[in-house]
Amino acid sequence: MKHSNIFVFIETVNQKAKPVSWELMAKARELSEKLEGSEVWGVLLGNELDEVCKEAIARGADKVLYVKNSELNEYINYKYQKVLVDMVKKYKPEIFLIGATLEGRELAGMIATELKTGLTADCTGLDIIPEKELLAMTRPTFGGNLMATIFCPEHVPQMATVRPGVMKELPPDFKRAGEIIVEEYQMPEVEKLIEVLESIPVKSGSNLQYAPVVISGGNGVGGPEGFKMLRKLADLLGGEVGASRAAVKKGWVPYEYQVGQTGKTIRPVLYIACGISGAIQHIVGIKESDIIVAINKDENAPIFEVADMGIVGDLHKVVPALIEIIENK
Ligand code: FAD
Repeated sequence: MKHSNIFVFIETVNQKAKPVSWELMAKARELSEKLEGSEVWGVLLGNELDEVCKEAIARGADKVLYVKNSELNEYINYKYQKVLVDMVKKYKPEIFLIGATLEGRELAGMIATELKTGLTADCTGLDIIPEKELLAMTRPTFGGNLMATIFCPEHVPQMATVRPGVMKELPPDFKRAGEIIVEEYQMPEVEKLIEVLESIPVKSGSNLQYAPVVISGGNGVGGPEGFKMLRKLADLLGGEVGASRAAVKKGWVPYEYQVGQTGKTIRPVLYIACGISGAIQHIVGIKESDIIVAINKDENAPIFEVADMGIVGDLHKVVPALIEIIENK
């Protein structure tokens, strides 16, 4: 029997799905249309996840595989690996997609190793080659200068992790029909390597991945003080602060703020780059923004090639002027 189903791992935190799960679900729907007879399956682990199951169907799942067990409430890598490997062996998906979050990156590698299949990490594009029923997995390589498309023709499932913020989610349609399969899973006795005593959410200070407005600073900001001004502008516009790698490397802001190839991929409605030159590694992380505005004192800075609007000038004059205009509105 031919198996052509697509598994999408729905990563949850506090009984809520992480947005990347819905981004993957939307992509899986698109792929499934090119893969004859295939169904999209959302897979989730834990308990008290009934609402997430319903949302998974609304977001595009044909079936939801709900592995119900309170031992799986917290992410513990070897437990999740064991369960998901068992689910793959039982239901035999052709494709398995996981978000490239901190946990997802680890988990995908552990599952692929156990199943002796391939894994393309950190993809930015996925497609189907219909005649071969192969997943084409695209990701940047050679420092972001080339895009590589990778296939896994010999092994199943074909596995990929996908960067959060790269794919577009579908709005939920709660009238969609779908089936929820509740798997009453008995966790086998496994060596207790980790015990979670308490979970304390990290306040990273930057929530820029899904912010509608992002004000980013680069080398031109000149130091941590300059970032306070960007924070003020971001607060006035209901947005968040981001940064180039140069600013992060200098320790002006933490890594959580970094946008670009080795940082976050974002697609805000408005992106304002302040004192950022526009290196390709930065641009790959922002190019899907609706409107890009650049403030740079060098009129030949490459950022102006991708910007919808540009201000040539000293950001230490331009940003306070913008703050003043908004405050006086
Ligand atoms: P610069 O290139 O130094 O540019 C500063 C800009 O500020 C200049 O254009 C200057 O004209 C302007 N400026 C200076 N003073 C002012 C002022 N007072 N007012 C207005 N403008 C001013 N970079 C990232 O950002 N994200 C990544 O994820 C990333 N990943 C990378 C991965 C690899 C493998 C490599 C090799 C590089 C990566 N980089 C990344 C680094 C990238 O190549 C650039 O070095 C970096 O983006 C440059 O940061 P910048 O634009 O802030 O600094």
